Amino acid sequence: MTGEQSFISLRGVYKTYGNQLVVMDKMDLDMRADDRLVIIGPSGSGKSSLLRVLMGLESIQGGTICFQGQTYIRAAEHKGKPLDAHLQQQIGMVFQHYTLFPHLSVLGNMILAPCKVHGLSKQQATEKARHFLARLGMEEKINSYPSQLSGGQKQRVAIARALMLEPRLMLFDEVTSALDPEMVIEVQNVMLQLAEQHMAMIIVTHDMHFAKHIATRVVFCADGKIIEQGPPEQLFKQPKETRTREFLEKVI
Ligand code: ADP
Ligand code: MG
Repeated sequence: MTGEQSFISLRGVYKTYGNQLVVMDKMDLDMRADDRLVIIGPSGSGKSSLLRVLMGLESIQGGTICFQGQTYIRAAEHKGKPLDAHLQQQIGMVFQHYTLFPHLSVLGNMILAPCKVHGLSKQQATEKARHFLARLGMEEKINSYPSQLSGGQKQRVAIARALMLEPRLMLFDEVTSALDPEMVIEVQNVMLQLAEQHMAMIIVTHDMHFAKHIATRVVFCADGKIIEQGPPEQLFKQPKETRTREFLEKVI
């Protein structure tokens, strides 16, 4: 797959924190628009950093990232952050810890960015919010405040809120790690629903069962490098690299 054909392509992406810690070590990665990449790897291997770079929350010091055929981030320009706000807005992200605004209702959380970024009227945005909340089975919580929601419900609202901006790519960083087991499924079901609708996704998770279920491709990272990648059935059943095998033995 060449960079031009990819939905996302990373070439030689290099990221450090300070002078010492290299978290993306000349990383090459390609993703198609119908891919659901699951990133696995030990804690501290740079998984969150990769997502945060794609979201424009962190800069890169080397390499290039293309998104939908355009140069999206180039280390040498714009301090290694996204060059094009329009492209950046097409990426949505959900984090491990709920990032809802506590002083706003569910509706308030959902319409804030669409009104500001997309210039929707309050009425238009509210209609849209109702639509997404209904899709996620959360319509009756529209006037609730985050403190009145369960962890699973908060994550569903966080996903719905990201969908309001009609992203082409969704990034999920350990979104179920902080949840009680019975709430994990409800959030994973929402992600599976998005998968059925062919949403491109990059998912960081330690839940290997879920990874097998949702991934079109699993990427194993360690020390800022991609050690191995492949379809889930291959990577989980017949990993080629010793490092992948050792990691999987620990976590499965
Ligand atoms: P992962 O998500 O795989 O656990 P991260 O991308 O969060 O890994 O972190 C990779 C490494 O970079 C870790 O050693 C972490 O402590 C370090 N790190 C992450 N964010 C920062 C930061 N803002 N400043 C300095 N070091 C950081
Ligand atoms: Mg992380």
